[in-house]
Amino acid sequence: MSSNPKIGVSACLVGQKVRYNGDAAEFRTLSRKWSDHLELVPVCPEVGIGMGVPRPTIRLVKNDGKLSLINPKNGDDFTDKMLEFSEIQSDLLASSGICGFVFKKDSPSCGLDRVKVYRGSNPQAVREGRGLFAMVFTSLNPHIPVIEEGRLTDPKQAEHFLSRVHFFHEWQNIGNTGWDANKIMQFHNENKLFLLSRAPQMKRILGRMIATRFDEGVHPENVALEYMTEAQQALNVLTKKGRIAHTMERVLGRFSHQLTKSEKQEVVELIHGFRKGILPRSAPLVLLNHYLRRYNLNDKIMSRFIKSVPLEMGLMARV
Ligand code: SF4
Repeated sequence: MSSNPKIGVSACLVGQKVRYNGDAAEFRTLSRKWSDHLELVPVCPEVGIGMGVPRPTIRLVKNDGKLSLINPKNGDDFTDKMLEFSEIQSDLLASSGICGFVFKKDSPSCGLDRVKVYRGSNPQAVREGRGLFAMVFTSLNPHIPVIEEGRLTDPKQAEHFLSRVHFFHEWQNIGNTGWDANKIMQFHNENKLFLLSRAPQMKRILGRMIATRFDEGVHPENVALEYMTEAQQALNVLTKKGRIAHTMERVLGRFSHQLTKSEKQEVVELIHGFRKGILPRSAPLVLLNHYLRRYNLNDKIMSRFIKSVPLEMGLMARV
């Protein structure tokens, strides 16, 4: 298994000239800056169904409650082809081990939210839809984190999305030879500080879910899938500074007795500065990481929180 998480991406975002007019819509943060830390798997659903480049524009149309993908100029209907392609491709992507998907916003095939939907012959569209490929992918894979590239321009959203991708990647690495009860408990335990920092209620809820499902005799593979689906649903909300700062204090509490008074004071001040918005998250995290390494104390539970996104990506300095 690759050491970098694999993520699916709308092909035009990585610079492939596959848009209807023969252009790309390269999102360089992803295609150039982050590509050292992620394995990108480009997919263009419209090329995938044989539409070619260049091609006529298509749109989502709703008639009598039924959503279709139509060429408005001649009425050609691509709905069935797109649904069939999306089902097959979504299954292929999931079984190839992708840990997330970045979709191109506004596209009737790839857009995740607020995609234009036309009603009958009304020329005014309502922004209420989801592209057909994105719709099928997300309903078949509710456990895989997804986002549109527009939201990745916000460092907070980008950091949070990538932390969900890495959380998924860890889950995949542990489960790749099959799940059993011990592995699920191990994963939950190793991620308890991570969950505390992002969706604190989930530590208890998921712990209870695991116990109940095993009492009911549910197969471990199904428990693991339900675990990740519920966790990702809860993680689909941005975390708050206070939660992260509180978790840093918990980390410090685990080894503060090994630090000198001034070392401890230094970390406390940096956490305080981060909580107040004066310092970036990287300031206390880098120092915590430094002391954990110096005293040989780093364990999986703490590193899952401290390196929930690789520090080298530089995002922690911007949030
Ligand atoms: S938005 Fe999706 S369908 Fe459109 S060009 Fe990009 S990858 Fe292809």
